[in-house]
Amino acid sequence: MSLNKKSIDDINVKGKRVLVRCDFNVPLKDGKITDENRINGALPTIQKLIKDGGKVILCSHLGKVKNGPNEGESLAPVAAALEAKLGQKVTFVADYNVTGEAATKAVSEMKEGDVVLLQNTRFRGKEETKPQEAGDAFAKELADLADVYVCDAFGSAHRAHASVAGVTKFITAKGGENVVGYLMQKEIDFLGKAVENPVRPFVAILGGSKVSSKISVINNLLDKVDTLIIGGGMSYTFQKAHGGHVGQSLVEEDYLDYAKEMMAKAEAKGVKMLIPVDTVVTKEFKNDTPFHVVEAGCQEDDDMGMDIGPKTCELYKDALKDAKTVVWNGPMGVFEFPNFAKGTIAVAEELAQLTDATTIIGGGDSAAAVNNLGFGDKMTHISTGGGASLEFLEGKELPGVVAANDK
Ligand code: AMP
Repeated sequence: MSLNKKSIDDINVKGKRVLVRCDFNVPLKDGKITDENRINGALPTIQKLIKDGGKVILCSHLGKVKNGPNEGESLAPVAAALEAKLGQKVTFVADYNVTGEAATKAVSEMKEGDVVLLQNTRFRGKEETKPQEAGDAFAKELADLADVYVCDAFGSAHRAHASVAGVTKFITAKGGENVVGYLMQKEIDFLGKAVENPVRPFVAILGGSKVSSKISVINNLLDKVDTLIIGGGMSYTFQKAHGGHVGQSLVEEDYLDYAKEMMAKAEAKGVKMLIPVDTVVTKEFKNDTPFHVVEAGCQEDDDMGMDIGPKTCELYKDALKDAKTVVWNGPMGVFEFPNFAKGTIAVAEELAQLTDATTIIGGGDSAAAVNNLGFGDKMTHISTGGGASLEFLEGKELPGVVAANDK
């Protein structure tokens, strides 16, 4: 699927108020941004709109805002980072009301090429739990500030929130355009091409903690890939379903039948499905504890599987060697503990060496792992959206994409 949606290249924004939904949901520690990737990802769209003479109004959520508006989840640090990166003033509307008088005033004073950043959209309540009417009221207030709406928040595109999708009907009602930005376009192009029209062999690597959170992804990808590699905590449910003994490892008993079903589906479709052949085990869930390698499915009752073993690393690296398209989502082990990050590192290293393949990293933990290991620039594309890229791989339509006008 390539994106048949209007983008910022298809509209004239000169002199217009352009509301851009970005994904500025950045990690913060003591008020400092610890990873600026999402801000960097938003820059091409913002810079294009500035250059074209738009009045650029940015909005985003940040964090979960569980206990109501608070300074710790204010977008103020993002405004400062943006100002430095854009090399121009970014007027931050700190008002917790987001779309209130302060915002209206700031927007009314904008000139072409100016940038305003609104406060955290979730300060108006969790957008998804709002009654429809309240969500609509907020969506309308957002639309009232603008003439045109640009969705560039891939990380939120799977949510039908007021600032992601709700706003579009009010923009349409006043004759405005709803389009996607460059980041959305890039994400959908890469993920879409990989899944719908991959250069083969197409290999998908799935890891992370749970089978239950990746059911639809496994099911959908089995219709597309040549090889499916399973690692991480979720592999133990497959190992047990395969008749193995996995001790205290993470297992979802309710999904054993599903795992069997998926292995049968792979066989019926001629998809090579790889599960670990050896495992690094411990007796305790921590980094500083003795560990050793056992054959997969041969764990003691008190053994806990923490990572794929060395033979599995070789097996997986070998399966990746000839790949022309690779999609990876989820770590191979408890990579937060250095002793159990080896499997994840091995996969990242192998992908970094594939110069003749399209390598796509789903967001979340695998993106963090690849970036932290310094392999970020060796991958073709690192998605900025964990949940959104997963839903995309499930074959679902994303509300943030659907809401944009067709070309
Ligand atoms: P997910 O959010 O489902 O992608 O899972 C990511 C998490 O899975 C990371 O925090 C990993 O520590 C965890 N994980 C990976 N392998 C294992 C394992 N063998 N046992 C427990 N947790 C794991």
